[in-house]
Amino acid sequence: MDRDAILLTPGPLTTTLRTKLAMLKDWGSWDADFNAVTAGLRERLLDIVHGRETHVVVPLQGSGTFSVEAAVATLVPRTGHVLVPDNGAYCKRAARLTQMMDRKATVMPVAEDAPISAAAVEAQLKADPSITHVILIHCETGTGVENPLAEVAAVCERHGKGLIVDAMSSFAALPIDARTVRFDALVAASGKCLEGVPGMGFVFIRKAVLETCAGNSQSLAMDLHDQCVYMGKTGQWRFTPPTHVVAALSEAVAQFVEEGGQPARLARYMSNYRTLVDGMARLGFRPFLRPEVQAPIIVTFHAPGHPAYDFRKFYAAAKARGFILYPGKLTQVETFRVGCIGAIGANEMRQAVEAVADVLREMGIPSGAPGV
Ligand SMILES: *Cc1c(COP(=O)(O)O)cnc(C)c1O
Repeated sequence: MDRDAILLTPGPLTTTLRTKLAMLKDWGSWDADFNAVTAGLRERLLDIVHGRETHVVVPLQGSGTFSVEAAVATLVPRTGHVLVPDNGAYCKRAARLTQMMDRKATVMPVAEDAPISAAAVEAQLKADPSITHVILIHCETGTGVENPLAEVAAVCERHGKGLIVDAMSSFAALPIDARTVRFDALVAASGKCLEGVPGMGFVFIRKAVLETCAGNSQSLAMDLHDQCVYMGKTGQWRFTPPTHVVAALSEAVAQFVEEGGQPARLARYMSNYRTLVDGMARLGFRPFLRPEVQAPIIVTFHAPGHPAYDFRKFYAAAKARGFILYPGKLTQVETFRVGCIGAIGANEMRQAVEAVADVLREMGIPSGAPGV
């Protein structure tokens, strides 16, 4: 069928027609019209975190990881020492990129099915005063667990440590308020809960911190200080901007505001999440996480225990019915993931559950219940 499948993934995700249509125009990267799109977008992004007074937002070409890497390179001096509480795959990625850039990183392992404890972070900061920064993954997309941003931010503030937040999969859906939660940098991207297309990230950086960051980055392309200074002087991106991605994100943010901003987006995702887990529970599926630690962004389900289950076949059969699922990211248990984000609502979620029921029948699997 000549119709796009619904993406039940954590990005790229299903976008509206209006967002797609915003890409049907060629922009000159030096042109005042495009500079105005960039400037307007930056202001509206700052409004989402109430950060106009305290922060700047610096966009960067590339996928979200590029911006995480850029934030670490720009904020952490080469002699810095970063604590990375680790309860999943994106935490491990942040630790790895930090080490690859020759910054010292200490990984603090935490169980994958539990949030990071702010008290444990505090104990680690007390035990090792050489730590200068903490990296926190707000929603660990590897499992879907929500980590306690406000509590960890308070601990970092109390101990005078810098905080870099990877809010890639939570930004614009979960509440983040720069007036009450103190962070030095917070990273998000175009193709997640703002429902733009992938291709750029952006980093909110505390103004007072950015001023101290000149020369930290060992990379030209990843230097957010340089990108910000250049943008301030010229209104332009330093290097070729992803013009169509910027235009699409600008249109996506306009729709976000029209929908009612973050509270409305969270309400829609909550409704998607409830529809999904209730429907899947009726089919016997069990989520990997306890509901109280689960963010309504992406749900990890245990794979069915039935011997006929095979993820590739399950995926292909769901795809044939118009729904793209996501593989699991856990090493110990077999799982798959289903995203609740994107320009979809409870109707699409009900249809997705129907499709999964149909797939189970086709595969001869009587229940989605996990093995023991
Ligand atoms: C999506 C995501 C990223 C970035 O991943 P890319 O594949 O580089 O876009 C980083 N951290 C988290 C928590 C994410 O969900």
